[in-house]
This record gives sequence, structure tokens and C-alpha cells, in this order.
Amino acid sequence: MTERLELDIAVFPGDGIGIEVTDSGLEVLAAAERLTGGFRCKYQTLPAGAFCYRDTGEALPKASVAYADKADAILLGACGWPDIRYPDGTEIRPQVELRFIFDLYAGLRPIRHYAGIPPTLVNPHGHPIDFVIIRESTEGLFASRGSAPNPEVATETLVITRRTTERLMRFAYGLARQRKGQGHPGRLTCVDKSNIFSSMAFMRGIYDEVGQDFDDVERAYLYVDAAALNLVRQPWMFDVMVMENMFGDILSDLAAGLIGGMGMAPSADIGDSHAVFQPSHGTAPDIAGKGIANPIAMILSGAMMCRYLADCKSTASLNDAADLIERGVARFLETGNRLPADQGGHTGTEQITEGIIAAMETVAPPMRD
Ligand code: ATP
Repeated sequence: MTERLELDIAVFPGDGIGIEVTDSGLEVLAAAERLTGGFRCKYQTLPAGAFCYRDTGEALPKASVAYADKADAILLGACGWPDIRYPDGTEIRPQVELRFIFDLYAGLRPIRHYAGIPPTLVNPHGHPIDFVIIRESTEGLFASRGSAPNPEVATETLVITRRTTERLMRFAYGLARQRKGQGHPGRLTCVDKSNIFSSMAFMRGIYDEVGQDFDDVERAYLYVDAAALNLVRQPWMFDVMVMENMFGDILSDLAAGLIGGMGMAPSADIGDSHAVFQPSHGTAPDIAGKGIANPIAMILSGAMMCRYLADCKSTASLNDAADLIERGVARFLETGNRLPADQGGHTGTEQITEGIIAAMETVAPPMRD
């Protein structure tokens, strides 16, 4: 029997349905650990979010950040609540703060349609929708957030730095190369507005420069307006897309709409030494506490975390765990008769979680050790 890898995971359940889907995500991760073997995760729940701010005056306590800093990965539900705000009226968003604190420049938004989820588009040729948006997450139009307007004018400055863009592009080409090895086209599309903005032309130049080291990856270019059009007309033509922060913010929600909405859209924010995994959705105050939140985005974010840790720790059983979670979700959904409320069904959060774990048990391969 080989020794098990011990991992330390910082968990921020947050607020609203963030707490509910985090419970589901942790149950599924525990099942993956049990069925796969080879690693053991310790999950440390940490306070953060709108209710934490209301109760303590801190949205992201220093002790929580210190713990997360040392952890192997960070799992986050969702934070924020409409009635709880900072004195200047802005919302409580520790998830955005974490991107800046830990320099999480690569925002991964995988867009995969699962059979059984009612399709948003008519897709006569049955092409699979399976691509990844990489959204730069620390600069772009978000770089000057918090700037105060004067009584006459408000401005925000879009910032593109060479340092971040080089790392972002290297990450993006690496992912396209990795996907090529898995049977995807291995095509990277740079989405920008370089015909108008010099900052975007600068970004495109760096995209080309870094691309010299990845001549096995097909390089494509698209202006953001054309990307929006084609995401609706032919989303199956995309493989990996890389773009500035605000463009990614908008297009990743549009893309999530193609696969069943926010409840089906996992995400990861990755830097050189830290990574946060969270569903793309918010705290959904309208359905919080009703037991009907769709936990699948969170569950798939857990699978992304396993894949990230597999890379960092060179441990194959973590990749097995990720595969198992994704196969369990696919198996659970394939009949289309146990859909969550956001997909027009009646299956609650707990039943979905149990159903996915049961499906994982049926598809689990033999343990490696
Ligand atoms: P934020 O403003 O942070 O994005 P939000 O919850 O208001 O947070 P979304 O996450 O975009 O916004 O969600 C919009 C709506 O979609 C929610 O109010 C809810 O009705 C629905 N929704 C979002 N996520 C889920 C989910 N996991 N399961 C079911 N419904 C969801």
C-alpha cells in the first residue's frame, strides 16, 4: 500500500446558496476520495462574505486569508447579499479580493454541455459544445475598480501589463496544447478589440510572441463583437478562448447560457502559487434556503480542483477523482429525468448530490493502490 498524499483545502462557503452547494461539493469530493484512493483531503471551513461582514465588520478576515495562503487549494461557494453592503453602497465581494491578493490572473470558465440538460440552441448537427474561456482576472477594466467619480465625469482605466499577459498567454497555450492531447482541436482564439484599442493591440502582440513557443497550437483571432455573434451561432467552433477581464466577464455568462445557465458553469481562478475553485453563480437570494439550488457547477468546480492538484502534486489518483466526478455528473444527467429546478425539473439539491454519488459508484474504476 503506497502512502496517501495529504492535502489541505481552505473552504469558504460564503452566503446564500453558496453554503448549500458547498455542502454538496464536499460530499461529492469525499465520495471521490473514498472511491479513488491515493489522497486524503482535510477541509477547513473559513468565514468570509456578507454575513461575516455584518457580524464582524470584516468581509474577508485576515486569519481566513492567512489560512488560505498556506492551503493547497481554495474552494469557495459564493459571497454577497443584496441588503448588506459597504458604506459606499458597493457589494461584498471577497471572491474578487482573493483574485488580487493571490494574483489569480487566469480565470478558467469551462463550457461543456451535458446530455440531458435541455439545449439552449437548436443544434441540427449535434456538435458537442465543449470549450474553455480564459478570462484574465486581475487587470483589464477591473484594474481601476473603486475609483471615485468627480461630480462631472467618471472614468475607468483599462490596464494590460506585459507581465500578466505573458503569463496568461503561456497558460492559455498550455491548456490548448493539453486539450489537443485529449482529442480536442488544440486551437486558441485571442478575443479582443485590437482594431480600436491600443491596449488590445499590445495584448495581441504578446499573444503572437508567446505563440512562437507553441507552434503545435493553432492560433486564431476574433474581435469581441464577432465572438459574441459566433458564440450564439456556432459555439461548437471554439476550443480555448483567451481575453481581457471585462470581455471574459460578459462572454462567460453568455456562454454559460448555452449549457443550462449559471448552475451548470464551474470556474477556477488560477495564479502561479494559489487557485480558487467556485461555481460561476452568485448567492441567489431568491432561492436560498429552499433546498432547490443546482449544485452541479460547484461539484464540477471540485473536479477542476482535483485536476489542478493532480498537476501540482503529480498524483494520478487526483485526475482519476476528477474524471470520476465528471462521469458521475454525466451519468446522473444523461436520462434527463432528474433535472434540478433551474433546468425545469423538480430534483432538489440533496437528491442531486446523492444521485451523483450513486452514479459515481457505478462508474468507478478499480482503485490504483
Ligand atoms: P451575483 O450578483 O453575484 O452574480 P446572483 O445570485 O444575484 O449573484 P446569479 O448567480 O447570476 O446572480 O444568479 C441569477 C439567478 O439565477 C439567481 O437569482 C437564481 O434564481 C438563479 N441561479 C443561479 N445559480 C443557481 C443555482 N446554482 N441553482 C439554481 N438557480 C440558480
